Amino acid sequence: MILAVFFAARQLCRFRHSSFYKAFDFKFEIDDFRGTLLISKPVNILLVDDREDNLLALNAVLRSQEYRLISATSGKDALACLEKDDFAVILLDVQMPGMDGLETARRVRRMERSINTPIILVTGMFPDEEHIRLGYEVGAVDFVPKPFDPRIMKCKVAVFAELFRKNETIREQEKQKAAEEELRRSRDQLKVIFERVADGIVVHNPDRTAVYANDRGAQVVGFETADALMGHDVTAAFGNRIDVFDEHGRPVPVQDLTSRRTLRGEYPEQEAVQRIRYSNTGLDRWFVVSSRPVLDAAGKPYLAVTIYRDITEEKRKKEDERFLADATAVLASSLDYQAMIEKVAVLAAERIADWCKFQLIDETGKLQALAVEGTEPTGEALDPVVVPIHGRDKNLGAIQLHSKGRKYDAVDLALAQELGRRVGMAVENAMLYLDVQAQRERLQKAVQSRDEFISIASHELKTPVTSLILHSEMAELQLNRKAPAEEIRERIRKYVRISASQIDRLSRLIEEMLDVSRIGSGKLAMELELVDLSRLVRGVLGDFSEQIRETGAQAAFDAVGEVMVRCDRYRMEQVVTNLLTNAMKYGGGKAIQVGLRTAGSNALLTVRDHGIGIAQEDQERIFQRFERAVPASDVSGLGLGLYIVKQIIEGHGGQVGVKSQPGQGATFTVTLPIV
Ligand code: ADP
Repeated sequence: MILAVFFAARQLCRFRHSSFYKAFDFKFEIDDFRGTLLISKPVNILLVDDREDNLLALNAVLRSQEYRLISATSGKDALACLEKDDFAVILLDVQMPGMDGLETARRVRRMERSINTPIILVTGMFPDEEHIRLGYEVGAVDFVPKPFDPRIMKCKVAVFAELFRKNETIREQEKQKAAEEELRRSRDQLKVIFERVADGIVVHNPDRTAVYANDRGAQVVGFETADALMGHDVTAAFGNRIDVFDEHGRPVPVQDLTSRRTLRGEYPEQEAVQRIRYSNTGLDRWFVVSSRPVLDAAGKPYLAVTIYRDITEEKRKKEDERFLADATAVLASSLDYQAMIEKVAVLAAERIADWCKFQLIDETGKLQALAVEGTEPTGEALDPVVVPIHGRDKNLGAIQLHSKGRKYDAVDLALAQELGRRVGMAVENAMLYLDVQAQRERLQKAVQSRDEFISIASHELKTPVTSLILHSEMAELQLNRKAPAEEIRERIRKYVRISASQIDRLSRLIEEMLDVSRIGSGKLAMELELVDLSRLVRGVLGDFSEQIRETGAQAAFDAVGEVMVRCDRYRMEQVVTNLLTNAMKYGGGKAIQVGLRTAGSNALLTVRDHGIGIAQEDQERIFQRFERAVPASDVSGLGLGLYIVKQIIEGHGGQVGVKSQPGQGATFTVTLPIV
């Protein structure tokens, strides 16, 4: 391609008077001057005579700067001269030995070159009519008898010389016209060809003036059209409308441009890859730039032909693909999506943006920034790109990209969207994996708790059953004893009382387990009625007074009076019972304070002990099923009491919580809406 353009440019330069290519004109002034000299150069006159003295005489008469006199001493000689040159006129002696003048004239006429050359026959003193007729017949145009009158001879020759010169001028002009026509045609052809070429072409001379460009070439160097560039400095737009960078992003100074180097004779030859940033659009384009010189006769470059091949799309496609591949590799490298988004952000800030921000939507629906990289845009940022981080069927967040002084186009947008899609997929996969993992952990824990529960439950159930068996056996033994009836009755009464408490314990355990299964299947029915919580608590405390006493503790109740709530009486008793029994179980026999007051529209029930207390990290989990904060061997229990309390209270639209420090006792607070 470059060769074709190179030859084409040279061809353009060969023709003269191009009004279209004004810039070429300066070169042809010298040729034009030479052309004028050519026209005034001496014309050839052929003198043919076998006699030297005659030739001398003719030479003497006709000598002039305007003529170049060539002598021939025979017809043969004359024909040889005519083969080599064009002559304005031939002075031909008729009487010559061998081939005479008439025969010579006949042959002259037959020669292509001299077919129209005028012949003046130089004859004897008085040529007869026959000779004259013969003379005209063979193509002579005039006769001069010997001895000739020098003035007449000079005049006649001058007429033919002038005629020859005029013809010569006309021929010259015709040649020129044909050349111009040829120039116009080839110029039009070239224009059509160049305009159809996809590459940009710019031809300029050493003072940087554009002598030719196609529209594309003009646009590459920052002009709108070829006409706007023509005759202007091709580097006029550099540094303002366009900035040129090399492949590695370094600015290229004007003097280092390929075309400039070509004109300095450095012939960079190799193609250079350059990026040009256009300030009007803020867009970058990539080109393969090659430049070839057009040399003058002395081998010095006087034109540089520069071709710009636009490789923006290929380059961009390759870079985008590479970026996406790298980003995908990063995204696939780990399940820690926070870390991988940070890495992708670094990559994006290096390769596709000056600044980027990756945000994900949190549980509350707000965007949280996960990674911010690059130099934050200040003032007005040109067209930032914002794309969603898309999951399979929902939006997970957003990516923002900014580039200083660069406008993002549709291709950039598509790339950013693809990045958003890939990040979304990776985040979703990671989340899914973490979810599955958490679920698996939960399941494992559930299985573990269940196993623990079964072993605890069987142990818990076995204890009262064993005690029951033991005491009924002991009671039976008493029946067969020979002892005073009163003593036997007393003992049996004691065993029955113990058995009754074991049955009570057993039935409470079974009730708890049944409640849990009811809660699990959503069948914990509540029968709501208006209840004075104060009375209810007092009642439960009364029921437990003996047991409390047995633990060595004391229970105080501090109530404000009637506190009416809408609740299921039985369940509410269960809540107070559970809290109270826990205070007895874990309270270390110390005082138990039960309080009831109102706060705003709520009733606040507190059960406070001064026992072992609960570590901070256990305070939430003890409200879950089977969760205990003490070793099973220390205090018996199924880990269900607080779970049931929480379910009942929440079922009433209330809340339950604990405040405690290990060793300092615990305060459980139940909040219930009052009526
Ligand atoms: P259980 O008492 O049968 O183990 P709960 O659900 O009633 O089951 O209690 C769960 C756990 O909470 C207990 O195992 C115990 O570790 C802790 N806990 C409950 N109440 C108290 C309290 N008043 N003081 C200290 N720890 C307590």
